[in-house]
Amino acid sequence: MTVEQKLTREKLLESALSCVHCGLCYHTLPSITESEKFSDTCPAGLYFGFDAYFSPGRNELARAILREEFPIRDSKALEQIIFSCTTCGACEATCRYVNDTNVLPVHVTEGIRALLVEQGIGPLPSQKKFADSIRRVDNPYGESGERNTWIENDSKRDKADTDVFYFVGCTTGYRYQDIAKATTSILDSTGADYSVSSKEICCGSPLIRTGQLDDVERLVRENVRVINESGAGTVIFSCAGCYRTVVKDWPRILGEPLPFETIHITQYMAEKISSGDLKMNQPMNMRIAYHDPCHLGRHMFPDAVYDEPRQVIDNIPGSERVSLDREKDATLCCGSGGGVKAGLPEYAEYIAKLRVSEAREKGADTFVTACPFCVRGLEDGAKKEALESGEKPLEVIELTELVRKSMGGN
Ligand code: SF4
Ligand code: SF4
Repeated sequence: MTVEQKLTREKLLESALSCVHCGLCYHTLPSITESEKFSDTCPAGLYFGFDAYFSPGRNELARAILREEFPIRDSKALEQIIFSCTTCGACEATCRYVNDTNVLPVHVTEGIRALLVEQGIGPLPSQKKFADSIRRVDNPYGESGERNTWIENDSKRDKADTDVFYFVGCTTGYRYQDIAKATTSILDSTGADYSVSSKEICCGSPLIRTGQLDDVERLVRENVRVINESGAGTVIFSCAGCYRTVVKDWPRILGEPLPFETIHITQYMAEKISSGDLKMNQPMNMRIAYHDPCHLGRHMFPDAVYDEPRQVIDNIPGSERVSLDREKDATLCCGSGGGVKAGLPEYAEYIAKLRVSEAREKGADTFVTACPFCVRGLEDGAKKEALESGEKPLEVIELTELVRKSMGGN
């Protein structure tokens, strides 16, 4: 990456210094929730319980690092603080409400990570491992085989002259293939002209979030080349992380606007339900809580995708949607973002467990989300919560899979 594509030290320092240490980002604002029990929003602060892990502490540390106020050395404590932020953006959302300074805490975290990685400090060992896999085989899971073994409709494989490019993403493509199958069956049933490419590679999100920027520009340019080659004018995503990265990070890295339109599958489904092209007729008889993925909500500010997934759920026959205290801008991260699931798995699982407990306490029997990576985190959280509560694990399901079931599919 070129220097222009990184946030400059000056910009990072300006952001860090604009934090007034009011501490309001430790909790959701009372105007959003009245429940004290479900008011914590910073996963890192909640788990580690020390000021340095909350946003103002991170800003203090960033200031000291940027001004070289202490000799930076490879210390486990420093590494843990810097790489434990899930980059969920909860602090950023609260800050947006309480002041008009240019505080962008997630940018500060990502910028400081990149700066330290350049100096040989961090990332965490398993985060290094996924970066090595991306360098080697273009995906963080180290998979070297055929990418699209899951495809059910063969005519869509590497289809040329297409309207829509389905960007599957590595987590869906290699670990949650039922989401890819559900997405393509929704596209098929609504008559979309789409293509799934065997040449798609990692979008760069795991590297950007953990400050490992060396290989990012190559990934972005190669993906753009492959998408352009397909002729598609629109790219559709079922992974919230890929969606955020392409919409928000790629233009910054490319230095120009994207040469195609973008849409998340939840937006597509809501649109097709409204037009009558997507029909669900199997009653699901569920009490559903919806978990807002950070990457589909706060990270997409000011175009957060909050209403469309709820519209889709509200149209599933026989289902009832229950509200959580921490929703939309105030959502509690699933605990997996920012490289935390790989780097600090116990902490990630603890946060996911808390999130699942919240859904259970609100009367849900099913926890639905719209991101494969949140599904992964919440599934682990549901197992842990069930072990501790002695209850049956809450069902965790991704929205396209639920829609497919309600359409009469498997
Ligand atoms: S990040 Fe914003 S909300 Fe949090 S302490 Fe700083 S100024 Fe206050
Ligand atoms: S981005 Fe999330 S985890 Fe990181 S400091 Fe802000 S609220 Fe905490």
